[in-house]
Amino acid sequence: MIFASDLDRTLIYSHKFIKEDCSKEQVIDIERKTTDGKCNIISYMSKDTLEGLKKVDKQGYFIPVTTRSKAQYQRIEVFQDVIKPKYAITSNGGNIFVDGQIDEKWQKIVNLTLKSIPVGIDEAYDNFPHENTYQWLVSLKKVEGIFFYCVVEEALFKRSFLEGFRKYLESNGWRVHFHGRKIYFMPEPISKEHALKYIVDNYIGESSQLHTAGDSDMDISMAPISDVFHVPRHGEIFKNLDNYPENKHKYMVTENKGFHASEEIVEKVLGFIHRE
Ligand SMILES: [Mg+2]
Repeated sequence: MIFASDLDRTLIYSHKFIKEDCSKEQVIDIERKTTDGKCNIISYMSKDTLEGLKKVDKQGYFIPVTTRSKAQYQRIEVFQDVIKPKYAITSNGGNIFVDGQIDEKWQKIVNLTLKSIPVGIDEAYDNFPHENTYQWLVSLKKVEGIFFYCVVEEALFKRSFLEGFRKYLESNGWRVHFHGRKIYFMPEPISKEHALKYIVDNYIGESSQLHTAGDSDMDISMAPISDVFHVPRHGEIFKNLDNYPENKHKYMVTENKGFHASEEIVEKVLGFIHRE
């Protein structure tokens, strides 16, 4: 069994998700970040989810699949010392870790792929429309020469502000993902499912059942190659499930939201492992 899962808002959550239904005692802090000399805890995982993931990783393959950069992924402490996944996908599929080391063959494939898109990252980034952005644009950043994203002031931002830029990108080999206060500008061929398929084809083999999970439209691309795609009862995919009818028979939606959704997903995956 392979369980390949998105991290943020699928298996791990920020402080604002700790509410009455999930007390501080039920979670552990898994990520710290130092800003202006002050160290803050920025992500949490449910203790039950962590225990379940340990079992999944022991009895099968647990593959973290994230849009985080390599460094942001490595900041998650539990995946450095408690569970050490043999394979991990970062940068939305742009990088693969095998036993903690970057897979160089995949890196070469990605570099060649990036050269084949009509507009490269520097040109795309330089064409970001900077007129009148001072009110709503918080930051604009490139990630590892693969993609870029901006953070916006949600209350002041309207999608129409970037309509022209979106059309320009989409006709030049890019996709735009609106994800709350973050908007990702992603080269079309860079996706989580391509990296996952590479790991399955080159290392694990197709005989294993493949379960995937995710909350955002950058995760749904994993559904076509999966046996089961777990959807937490919160987030973009859940809200817009009707927009993705193609793989409806594969969706397994949780009863719970937030931390409890992550516990439920891992519990279901373990149930499937025991039935295998
Ligand atoms: Mg997510």
